[in-house]
Amino acid sequence: MARVGFIGLGNMGGGMAANLAKKGHDVRAFDLSAAALDAAKAAGCLPVGSARDAANGAEAVVTMLPAGAHVAQVYAESLSDVAVDTVLIDCSTIDLATARRLASEAAARGIAAVDAPVSGGIAAAQAGTLTFMVGGPAAAFERARPFLEDMGKAVIHAGDSGAGQVAKMCNNLILGATMAATCEAFVLARKLGLDAQTFYDISSKATGQSWSMTSYCPVPGVGPESPADRDYRGGFAGALMLKDLELAMAAADGAEAQVPMGTRARDLYRQFVDGGQGGLDFSGIIRMLEGARG
Ligand code: NAD
Repeated sequence: MARVGFIGLGNMGGGMAANLAKKGHDVRAFDLSAAALDAAKAAGCLPVGSARDAANGAEAVVTMLPAGAHVAQVYAESLSDVAVDTVLIDCSTIDLATARRLASEAAARGIAAVDAPVSGGIAAAQAGTLTFMVGGPAAAFERARPFLEDMGKAVIHAGDSGAGQVAKMCNNLILGATMAATCEAFVLARKLGLDAQTFYDISSKATGQSWSMTSYCPVPGVGPESPADRDYRGGFAGALMLKDLELAMAAADGAEAQVPMGTRARDLYRQFVDGGQGGLDFSGIIRMLEGARG
């Protein structure tokens, strides 16, 4: 078992660090929040006073921070002089430009580094069933893999540095657009007199089927249990969907890619968040679409 530094013990990182400790690793955990440090201690990690202390002597350093600016700051201030046999694993969802820059700076110092954003929410982080999509050189991937396997059910090498972030943002572009389309179809069906359960029974077996329809139906009482059945509490917050769509739109600008559906989904989620609903699950956008036509 190895010494692992873990920086960022929030909704996701808290469960992930706990799973590494459960697997027998010596986890040195750091967060700016005292409550998060207390929870990590209760979960078997050793709380330390700084990101640098977490990284000191670690075989792997995992970061799970809100956005690119946080990761860039921690890498610049606390991880710039880690030992050459350390592997840096950033599991945060961040912008592509920052992910690629941090990877090339690490490579220039001879440090193995990967971007490894996750699919799966807080429950999957706690249960150790996340899916990791990993970008980085093959050798760095192989060094990161055992630590990721201790926190997830699937670890996939997506390609070179940044490819994990590309996979994550493209996946969530599909998710945001299909959820918005699924919601508007349910609203239209109801307004045209078609019962939601009947529409689900038909569409989930027809070509309208998608994960948003079949596994995460946005209508309460229809399909398997989902956040819709809990008044859209828990699940994947609309604000995080907006964040991911904005990352995808920024990357699309850089690549001169046409993303009309992603752009529309981003605008809808921005409206949802601006309307004060960003803390609700992203399928709650059906409520906004149920409103009268403006
Ligand atoms: P969070 O806000 O709950 O946790 C982030 C933690 O980082 C906080 O505890 C904060 O105190 C800490 N932090 C911030 N700056 C720090 C610093 N300089 N040093 C140490 N700690 C610092 O966020 P989260 O929900 O855990 O999400 C983390 C990442 O995972 C994000 O990039 C998010 O987009 C991604 N993600 C989240 C989910 C989800 O369902 N919550 C799902 C997939 C991916």
